[in-house]
Amino acid sequence: MPECLFCAIADETVPATQVLATDRVLAFCDIDPQAPTHVLVIPREHHPDVAALAAANAGLLHEVITQAHHVAVAEGLGEEGYRVVFNTGPQAGQTVPHVHAHVLGGRALTWPPG
Ligand code: 5GP
Ligand code: ZN
Repeated sequence: MPECLFCAIADETVPATQVLATDRVLAFCDIDPQAPTHVLVIPREHHPDVAALAAANAGLLHEVITQAHHVAVAEGLGEEGYRVVFNTGPQAGQTVPHVHAHVLGGRALTWPPG
């Protein structure tokens, strides 16, 4: 099993509820949802955070964001809106060092975030 949790989810050695899968990107439900829709979108390739992914493979970052939007539309959030968050680093609350976009929606989201 890969040491990285999200690499393990990408290769299906750790189960997750998948909502979208392409050859390069995977979307799955967060195990501890913070909103009615809370989906994580990851590249299958391991990169530690969004800055590293942007530097290494901007095209793949583009795919992650495009698929995040597809997830939101599929969840019925295309009109009412949704939030895409890349927590980056410990002070932002990043706990899994494999880049992931949180797609959040289905309720009014407060601003600024806590
Ligand atoms: P971060 O805190 O790094 O921005 O986000 C990590 C997210 O991964 C958290 O929202 C957390 O609930 C979620 N998570 C942690 N472990 C698992 C797991 O085993 N399966 C799934 N589906 N989500 C997980
Ligand atoms: Zn990984």
